[in-house]
Amino acid sequence: MFCRHCGAEINDKAVVCVYCHKPVRADKTAGSGYHGVIGFVLAVLALFLPVTGLDIVCGTAAFIFSVVGLARNQRTGLSIAGIIISILAVIGAIVMLFDGTYHNYYII
Ligand SMILES: [Zn+2]
Repeated sequence: MFCRHCGAEINDKAVVCVYCHKPVRADKTAGSGYHGVIGFVLAVLALFLPVTGLDIVCGTAAFIFSVVGLARNQRTGLSIAGIIISILAVIGAIVMLFDGTYHNYYII
């Protein structure tokens, strides 16, 4: 078969392209699930980001990625965790925004 990333001819059983080192499987088991992972990572990031405004953006992006991940059945557990954490992060960020806790770091 041919690598769908670089077009090089590779072994039919290859999981990773030997030329560009990217996963070549088109099925759902390999190379998928990144939305859920990104959503979860962004959600955790948003939760701990001390920059009001940026954490709201980050939390919103996390929520979107997690919802997409969940909709595509990608790493469902991580996606659900990402949705919950991102909601908490955004609510927390908005509360802190009105509380004025991080007004010195407000950039957006
Ligand atoms: Zn390749």
